[in-house]
Amino acid sequence: MALLVGLTGGMGSGKTTVGKLFQSLGAYVLDADEICRSLVEPEKPAWRETVDLLGNEIVRDDQTLDRRKIADIIFNDSDKKKALEAILHPRVMAEEQAIYKDIRKGDPAALVIIEAALLIESENYRKVDKVVVIVCDKETQIRRIMAKNTFSQEDAERRLQQQMPLEEKIKFADYVILNNSGLTELEEQVEALFHQLKQLTV
Ligand code: ATP
Repeated sequence: MALLVGLTGGMGSGKTTVGKLFQSLGAYVLDADEICRSLVEPEKPAWRETVDLLGNEIVRDDQTLDRRKIADIIFNDSDKKKALEAILHPRVMAEEQAIYKDIRKGDPAALVIIEAALLIESENYRKVDKVVVIVCDKETQIRRIMAKNTFSQEDAERRLQQQMPLEEKIKFADYVILNNSGLTELEEQVEALFHQLKQLTV
């Protein structure tokens, strides 16, 4: 029996790193953000709905959407943010379910991981079999966000403040990965969890 697992955590908690580790162990890993981007390619239904909602100013010359402008608009307008999420989140999950179905056809015991920053906030956690939340302490998280994005400490802190607190996310977790130390410790945890989850697919 295949298994669909949602992998989430705060900004810079290690989602991409853990996703890659799962992939190297033999899991199928889907990237919710990448799927979301593909859904708003020019002239797709969600592209049209997004432009109708936010206006032509978000359309670049090549017809792709300007994510920076979208972020600016929804940062200042919570109604538009909600409306945009209502356009995107159900479609992202529907697409993920469709991909999951396809994978299962070829591999009935597949372990499929969805890497999704907004798994909990989007309510899409309800549609997966298990939820994995990556946590790390705030200082480590800020340090990693600063290094990855060349943000100032202030910027990194401000962004974190806008997010659902990790303590809140943990409440939805079936499994927690603690990512405070080095990569070796992380690899060990992911490997152990991979085997635990794989057991559920047999
Ligand atoms: P984002 O929210 O930006 O998408 P993320 O949750 O996907 O981030 P990663 O990109 O995996 O997080 O990790 C953030 C940064 O911290 C990366 O530069 C990554 O290489 C580094 N990192 C993650 N885990 C560890 C670790 N255990 N030891 C050292 N560096 C780490």
